Amino acid sequence: MNKKFYVTTAIDYVNAEPHIGHAFEKVIADALARYRKSKGDKVFFLTGVDENAQKNVQAAEAAGIAVKEFIDKNAALFLDLCKQLNISHDKFIRTTAKEHAKVVHEVLKKVTDKGDIYKGNYEGHYCTGCETFITKKYLVDGKCPEHDKEPEFLKQEAYFFKLSKYKEKLIKFVKTYIVPESRKKEILSRLKEDLKDVCISRKDADWGIDFPGDKNFKVWVWIDALINYISGAKEKWPADVHVIGKGINWFHSVIWPAILISAGYELPNTLLVHGYLNLGGKKISKTLGNIIDPLELLKKYGADPVRYALLRCSVFDDSDFSEEILIKRHNNELANKLGNLVSRVTGLIEKNGVEKTENKLIKKLNLKKIENYIENYEFDKSLNEIFAFIDICNEYVQSKKIWETKDKKALYELKESILKIAELLWPFIPESSEKITKQFSAKKIKKSEILFKKI
Ligand SMILES: [Zn+2]
Repeated sequence: MNKKFYVTTAIDYVNAEPHIGHAFEKVIADALARYRKSKGDKVFFLTGVDENAQKNVQAAEAAGIAVKEFIDKNAALFLDLCKQLNISHDKFIRTTAKEHAKVVHEVLKKVTDKGDIYKGNYEGHYCTGCETFITKKYLVDGKCPEHDKEPEFLKQEAYFFKLSKYKEKLIKFVKTYIVPESRKKEILSRLKEDLKDVCISRKDADWGIDFPGDKNFKVWVWIDALINYISGAKEKWPADVHVIGKGINWFHSVIWPAILISAGYELPNTLLVHGYLNLGGKKISKTLGNIIDPLELLKKYGADPVRYALLRCSVFDDSDFSEEILIKRHNNELANKLGNLVSRVTGLIEKNGVEKTENKLIKKLNLKKIENYIENYEFDKSLNEIFAFIDICNEYVQSKKIWETKDKKALYELKESILKIAELLWPFIPESSEKITKQFSAKKIKKSEILFKKI
């Protein structure tokens, strides 16, 4: 029987255009979705945008554009990013959709019925970048460490969620939930401190989803955003893997499961927390002015070279990324190794044909190791293994001197091996993989045109 596999990305704020970090997260989730699909699972893949955040409103005001118009414009860019990156999502959710607000109310009704919401007063420092209150001790020099910005002081009436009630359950749950270990430890040590109830409303906002039963308040945008994983997928819930960045670990590790337990929903299986991309050792950020525009890169190089360079980065650790790194990867690995192999072997087969034989060459491919790496989200290591086998295939052509010997049996082994390589590369570089499969499955194999033009 086919297993269900439901994977999500975080939904992106539309306060600005997409940056390379958004592309990184989407290709991680896409590689997972495609891998599970290739294993025969019934995949559902959800991505989308967070449109109800206060920071979207601030950005629209700063740009002098009506909020709705501003949001539509940026949401379209995120959707285009998915298209240009060849992302295989099944649904792109926008949280201003009416159906979404309905589900937010349904979930909050269940939490209210459980007796887990109460009214009180809140005083604290709110970072609009994070869209959350930050406890003083997490500030660095009085600033939010994530945004390097001083939060604003807010004092207001508010609705609270009884988060503290779920402390023991959460400690137990996150032990099996969070990957990698370092991110799990971070949450566990914070959970063991005093866990406070969380404010889930905003009083001064006029944008967002109305708080159920009290129009003077809006739902805190994080509660609204997290519920997209249910409203965007309904009967597919629970999620098998939530893919998120390390900056929003707490919301997904603590607040989200607590809301789900309170409302009586099943819990998601895995939270995959990825690292950030750096440029020259520095965090990529607007304030530092070192933004890489993924749409520009995609226009220049196409989906597969961008996907490949991103998936060559570690999922868990922060990695350095730049256009130079992309070009190097593209030339050295895609063009010189994979492209060269495909071009040579198709050319030799066109001239000499193939003769069926036992494929001894493929025994040098360590399939189990590759799959283990993918299942542990170590995509960079699985690509290392696949490319080590591509090297072996190139050496095979050399050592057998096929252009002289016209060894049809060796060409058969190569053809079958390259078909397997294409299958293994499909989660990473789908377009090229499909091209290679088509070429080597043809009745009459012809010399391939250049797959990856050197940059
Ligand atoms: Zn912040």
